[in-house]
Amino acid sequence: MSTDNLLPDDYFAGEEEYPEGFQEAIDAVINGGNRLLESNDEPDAWDVASGLLAGAVHFWLFSRQPCSDPLCESCASVSTAEQRLARLMEEVNQHCEESEYYHTPLDRNAGSA
Ligand SMILES: [Zn+2]
Repeated sequence: MSTDNLLPDDYFAGEEEYPEGFQEAIDAVINGGNRLLESNDEPDAWDVASGLLAGAVHFWLFSRQPCSDPLCESCASVSTAEQRLARLMEEVNQHCEESEYYHTPLDRNAGSA
């Protein structure tokens, strides 16, 4: 099988200092996706990517459950489902804007800006 559709595993190895566990989590997702694509089953890359995203969303939401103290300052920004979704989308938007795969030379509007 071709490796053209595998994400380079050094893709996210930026110069930025990430918090403990952040880079390891990115590596785990990218390596896991690549491993699935290289498997004998050869699943569809879009299905693999959507599955990874679904798992990441569930994991993120699980980690942002507010504690039982209704006045807790740490949990104030994630104390409703709407707030958690807004925070999640902020992070998603940030990662899209930082990704070198967000804009591509093949975009229909490429070069028209
Ligand atoms: Zn709390």
